[in-house]
Amino acid sequence: MESPVQDTIESRVQSVLAKIRSAAEKAGRPASSVRLVAATKTVPVEKIAEGVQAGLAILGENRVQEALSKIPAFNPGPVQWHFIGQLQRRKVRSVIGVFDLIHSVDSLELAQEIDRRAGDAGRRQDVLLEVNIGNEPTKAGFCPDDVRQAVSELAQLSHIRIKGLMAIPPPTINPDSARPYFRKLAELAKTIDAQHLPSVKMDELSIGMSNDYEVAIEEGATLVRVGSAIFGARHV
Ligand SMILES: *Cc1c(COP(=O)(O)O)cnc(C)c1O
Repeated sequence: MESPVQDTIESRVQSVLAKIRSAAEKAGRPASSVRLVAATKTVPVEKIAEGVQAGLAILGENRVQEALSKIPAFNPGPVQWHFIGQLQRRKVRSVIGVFDLIHSVDSLELAQEIDRRAGDAGRRQDVLLEVNIGNEPTKAGFCPDDVRQAVSELAQLSHIRIKGLMAIPPPTINPDSARPYFRKLAELAKTIDAQHLPSVKMDELSIGMSNDYEVAIEEGATLVRVGSAIFGARHV
């Protein structure tokens, strides 16, 4: 028989939150310096609601249509929505004002479009720049060597605020193998902060997923994006 006590969304949320706290403590950081973003792609609203009941405060979606269809079920409510997937320029208009943070700004053109549309809406959009930290040919994101230059250009835009960096390192089996990539991203954020650009502050590092979020926290993660460890394996 399966054990219903151990394997509910509620118990998994609590277990992930506990592991986040202990990883932060182990790294000598306050637990409040790390926030959990639950990655909810493909997860139906009822299951997400169970997670929110159990204490999830930030939900991260990958696809615009899917997000827009789920969000009304939680409004008005205490949860924040973040956008973590690849964002097409033609969809930017429909995400302004919907997401508190867009983690996945992967080109100058996308950032400029967000700035333009946020301006039209009279808003300022918080964003992270996605870095292709492993220089993988098939992966989205700024090349590590290009980020500093990109940030200094984007610092001119008055309707976005660059809050930090995000990365998805090359897939590894051993979580420790991701550590050098996390460290490299943290160092990149430090060199950007040292440029003291207007409206650029590297407060956030969005790194770590189900497999490696504890390692990411040791390396400075402030946002960990965790899906399957909470909602189970995705079959889609
Ligand atoms: C799905 C997804 C995650 C979560 O992945 P898990 O391995 O299920 O924790 C994190 N970040 C992004 C960008 C994702 O698309």
